[in-house]
Amino acid sequence: MHAAFLPGNREVDLREVPDPSPGHGQVVVATRASTICGSDLRAIYREHLGEGPEAYQGVVGGHEPAGRVVAVGSGVDRIAVGDRVVVYHISGCGQCDDCRRGYQISCTAPTRKAYGWQRDGGHADLLLAEERDLLVLPDELTFLDGACVACGFGTAYEALCRLAVSGRDRLLVVGLGPVGLAAGLLAKAMGASRVVGTDPSPDRRALAVELGAVDEALAGTDEELDAALGDGAEASVDCSGNGRGQLTALRHTRRWGRAALVGEGGQLSVDVSEVLIHRQLTVHGSWVTSTVRMGELLENLARWGLHPEKVVTHRFPLAQAAEAYSVADSGVGGKVGVVWED
Ligand SMILES: [Zn+2]
Ligand SMILES: [Zn+2]
Repeated sequence: MHAAFLPGNREVDLREVPDPSPGHGQVVVATRASTICGSDLRAIYREHLGEGPEAYQGVVGGHEPAGRVVAVGSGVDRIAVGDRVVVYHISGCGQCDDCRRGYQISCTAPTRKAYGWQRDGGHADLLLAEERDLLVLPDELTFLDGACVACGFGTAYEALCRLAVSGRDRLLVVGLGPVGLAAGLLAKAMGASRVVGTDPSPDRRALAVELGAVDEALAGTDEELDAALGDGAEASVDCSGNGRGQLTALRHTRRWGRAALVGEGGQLSVDVSEVLIHRQLTVHGSWVTSTVRMGELLENLARWGLHPEKVVTHRFPLAQAAEAYSVADSGVGGKVGVVWED
């Protein structure tokens, strides 16, 4: 089979490797879609920056896969050949408290491995996965929808659930990359009465409005946000991952409001009394999601008729994975996906 590796230095290495075969509790998935995440660019593609759970160990890249099961090993009983599945992208120990709550992302056992980071990921014709890491994709959703849920939409949904976003809220979304777009689309489906987004890029602002992810897109100055939101939004989410954006999200959250920090990275310096204490804010740090919440999201997306693939602006076959990464790295469009045509 063909597989793409990420040696760093903005290179993509396409190689021929042996097909995997499933061991006990494992399945082989014929990958149909494998999208590119901001964290792939930040910690692997440009240079190998990651440590601990983000240390890339020279495996097949891609941690947002969806596909069809083509082989199952012994002891596999929930998933069958032919099932359409999404891969929750971290394989935890399965035994610790975090794993048992479904938050394999937070597993600290030495056996924890993330697909595309420490074990082979989705940028290959076939993917070896643990049965317990798989969610069945509802018939209403496409493989590309599933890939978008595997990390980005799951992450955005988790943050909105922590914030308990409802029709009582206006939501501020800082940063309109793929996760910001997901946050806006999901918040509207969850009933948010108004979504205001900010991004320094005019292209990203235009795309967010065009997709209906936001009602209004601003560059993000305090004056603009004061005019748009008055005392601030009832709920806010930072998807920018930089200190300035994070501070914007906190400062434009209304008194007694709730904020979630989702964008990875950044250093935040904040006047604690003025911005947080005296304004009675609740602030959540929210990292990815749980398998349980991801299953709930898939069910809701089918019911809402919302297709996450609408944020995918560029699609490439695996043979053009290098172009796919180059486009994603340029930061111009929305999500970039590697797709296999049926
Ligand atoms: Zn990701
Ligand atoms: Zn664990």
